[in-house]
Amino acid sequence: MSKIKKAINYMDLRKVRFWVQILFFVFFIYGGYLAIDLGNEMPIFSCGYNRENGGGCYFLGLQHQLARPWDRLFGMAGIGVLTGFLTFLVWFIVFNKAWCGYACPLGTLQDWITSLRKMLKIPYSSYTLEQYKFLKTIKYVFLFIVIVFPLLLGLGLLNSEWRGAFCDMCPGRLIVPLFTLDFSQWYIDFSSKTTLFLTAFGMSFTALFFVGSFIKKRFFCFFCPMSAMHYIFSDWAVLKLKKDGDKCTKCGDCYNVCDMQIKDIADDVKSKNILRDDCIFCMKCVAACPEDDALHVDILSMKVFSSTKGGFTKRMEFSKDEK
Ligand code: SF4
Ligand code: SF4
Ligand code: SF4
Repeated sequence: MSKIKKAINYMDLRKVRFWVQILFFVFFIYGGYLAIDLGNEMPIFSCGYNRENGGGCYFLGLQHQLARPWDRLFGMAGIGVLTGFLTFLVWFIVFNKAWCGYACPLGTLQDWITSLRKMLKIPYSSYTLEQYKFLKTIKYVFLFIVIVFPLLLGLGLLNSEWRGAFCDMCPGRLIVPLFTLDFSQWYIDFSSKTTLFLTAFGMSFTALFFVGSFIKKRFFCFFCPMSAMHYIFSDWAVLKLKKDGDKCTKCGDCYNVCDMQIKDIADDVKSKNILRDDCIFCMKCVAACPEDDALHVDILSMKVFSSTKGGFTKRMEFSKDEK
């Protein structure tokens, strides 16, 4: 094993991830202060309602673009929609769902809430298999709202109050601007029954975000339509989470560390591509696996981070040192 490869396979992933998340958090929340602007096609919840962000969530612009009258949407205006979509796709294809595990401010915030819960020694909750199966479908309902509602508006079947309906309901709109001391999104709009419903939903969902994240790891990510959107295109991504079933002993260590309760990561010994729709590509499963090459992260079929017996033992020592 080359020295670089060994250093990567033996790294303390928790520390690396902690610092990468901080870096991205600062970049996406405060990037605007440094005149950084990666555009509004980010495959994460870096909310565009935060005016200082270094790059905004794709869904804000997408909903407004899709709400155009159909004669314009399928005419010249369609070029803008297509360009926005291709930009989103390029970002996503490079990093796959690692955007969730390492870059999304709303994902990072949930991890910090989990750390606080651990410090307070409060036990966490898990879903039963039935709850899990039901809850994971909700993100597809939200994705439907993101894409189909604006299209219905463009057809004249919904009124303009439904433009950006998901953003009105999204906790990101209320939470992300808070980090730049912007409370302007904290309101309930009483101007009509629709706006009242959508903004009251947003407030309630935000309260649920904080309470839920405190007892369930990555509580909101189970419902996130961006995660559903990612999954549709994840086969095209360059970065892949792979499994070699022949090397797996089904010990379950990977499942035990998985914040998203993905059972297939331990049980499925047939699939090579083991990324599932709820995966946040945190790579904790790879770090926790004690078998050489049973799990690995590939870039264009080249292994860049693999499970190894040595790496597993080293990481056990790191966690003992911290106790
Ligand atoms: S699934 Fe979680 S981490 Fe990924 S975009 Fe949604 S909120 Fe962010
Ligand atoms: S930790 Fe490794 S060996 Fe154990 S179930 Fe997961 S993939 Fe298989
Ligand atoms: S399957 Fe692995 S990479 Fe995906 S969320 Fe679970 S631990 Fe993280």
